[in-house]
Amino acid sequence: MSKVSLPHHHGDNTEYVIERMPSYNDCNEVADMFKQISDSTRLRIFWLLCHCEECVSNIAAAMEMTDPAVSHHLKLLKKGGLIVSRREGKEVYYHVADNEKSELLHHACEAMFKIACPCEHEHEHNH
Ligand SMILES: [Zn+2]
Repeated sequence: MSKVSLPHHHGDNTEYVIERMPSYNDCNEVADMFKQISDSTRLRIFWLLCHCEECVSNIAAAMEMTDPAVSHHLKLLKKGGLIVSRREGKEVYYHVADNEKSELLHHACEAMFKIACPCEHEHEHNH
C-alpha cells in the first residue's frame, strides 16, 4: 500500500489509520450487507427468520402483507446470503443462514432496538 501524504500534519496517527483503512471492495461488501436490511419490512422478516423457520404464507400473515410482496423481500435476503430456503414437498421454508454476517446483523438489530432475543430466552429455560 502506498504511503499517503496529507496536506496538513497533525500527528502521526492519522497516516497510520489511513494505511489500515478497509478497501473499497471490502466496504462494498459491508455496504451491501446493510442494504439488505435498509428496509423496515425486510428487517422484520429477517429478524423473524432468525428465530423460526417459516413458509411464505405464514411470513406474509405475520407481516400483514401479500405473499408476492413477501416473496420479493425473501428473494433479496436470500441473494444477500442472509437467509436460506429448504423445500419440503410443496412447501418452501425460509430460515436465517448459518454465517457470521447473519449472526452479526441479528444481534446488532436487537442491541439497537434493545429487544430481547427469543433464542437467549429459550436458552435460559433449557438450563
Ligand atoms: Zn434474536
